[in-house]
Formats: sequence, structure tokens, C-alpha cells
Amino acid sequence: MLRELFTEKARREVVDYGLLLLEKKLTLGTAGNISAFDPETGLLAISPSGIAYEQTRPEDVVICDLNGKVVDGERRPSSELGLHAALYRVRPDIRGIVHTHSMYATTLACMQEPIRPLHFAILSAGEGEVPLADYATFGTPELADAAARAIGRMNAVLLRNHGILTVGKDIAAAFRVMEDCEWCAEVQWRCMCAGTPAVLTEEQLADAARMYRGYGQKNK
Ligand SMILES: [Zn+2]
Repeated sequence: MLRELFTEKARREVVDYGLLLLEKKLTLGTAGNISAFDPETGLLAISPSGIAYEQTRPEDVVICDLNGKVVDGERRPSSELGLHAALYRVRPDIRGIVHTHSMYATTLACMQEPIRPLHFAILSAGEGEVPLADYATFGTPELADAAARAIGRMNAVLLRNHGILTVGKDIAAAFRVMEDCEWCAEVQWRCMCAGTPAVLTEEQLADAARMYRGYGQKNK
């Protein structure tokens, strides 16, 4: 993609989806961050550090390379820039990342419980459970490494005692995974409060995954 085309579109999306995080109650204050990556230019657009989503303007969104060098923008990039860059390195298929401290996913992350496949809505995050990355202090290269090691082929990873990160083919896709994970995390937490959640069997999950991918038209 042309550099200007990417930066303009990505800056607008980082602002718009930041506002949507607030609207959908997936974050509070300045917690969380959003990025987009363009492999052709090698550039990444990421939320600025410490600016409220309502006050973020497209020009506040920072354009960097994967080594963290700022190429355009007056602001400091999010303190989790290294986390985003590590995920783009380990998953060349992704172009968008959303990280939040959403209530229920963070609750499970603080219980050091993965999001388990209790309901087929989890399938937007992949076929399995949402894994837990090893604990590391926020904003450190150790956290970036831990998340990059843990995510595998899933589209989401819980950060122990911290929050959740989701990925996708663009920011919109990563955002949808975030909403699904948060809903599944709430269901799981409610089940855990009421008793022992019944996890789908591998076969049930595989069957649901076939349907999810648009297969399984057995009656035709
Ligand atoms: Zn965080």
C-alpha cells in the first residue's frame, strides 16, 4: 500500500476504534491500545501514550517501524509498542491488533484461567482455548516475548494479571475478536460463579468450527 494511503487510513481507524472501545465498555481511561501494520511499507500505526481516546486526533497516532523508530508523529507511541511489534513479527498473517483491560477477560487473566471453549462464539479467536501468556511487567520486552510465544495460531491471548490482546486481518477483525472474547469470558466467569463450566469436547468444537467456516451443508 502507498505510504500516505496506509498512514491516513490507519490513523483514522485507530481513532475510530478507540472511541468504539469506550462505547462498548471494553476499556476505561487511557488503558489499552490499538495498531495497524502494513507489510509493504513496514510501517505500524499505534495509539499515542497516555492520551484519552476522546481526545486522540488522527495526527496524534504515531507511525513507527517494527523496531520502534518513530517515522511520523509528534507524540510518544503507546508503552506497549514492543508488544504489538512482537506479534506482527511472529504472525505475518495479521494486520491489526487490539489490546484492552476489558473487565471479564482481565478477571480470568487475574485468575490465571484461559478462556475455555464453552460456547462456539469463541471460534472467532480460533479453534481451542485462548492461551495465557507468562506473567511479565507491562511495557517490557519480556511481556512482548511472552505474548508472542503464547499466541500460537489463535487470534487472542490473555496476559496474566494484566488483560487481553486480539489480532486479525485488520483492526475491525481484531475488534470483533475482542468483543467475542469478552462475551465468552463473562459467560465463563458466570459459570465459574455458579459451579463448574462444561467445556465443549474436541469433537463438538471441531463440528462447530466446520459450521463456522461455512462447511457442513450435509442436507443438500
Ligand atoms: Zn495493558
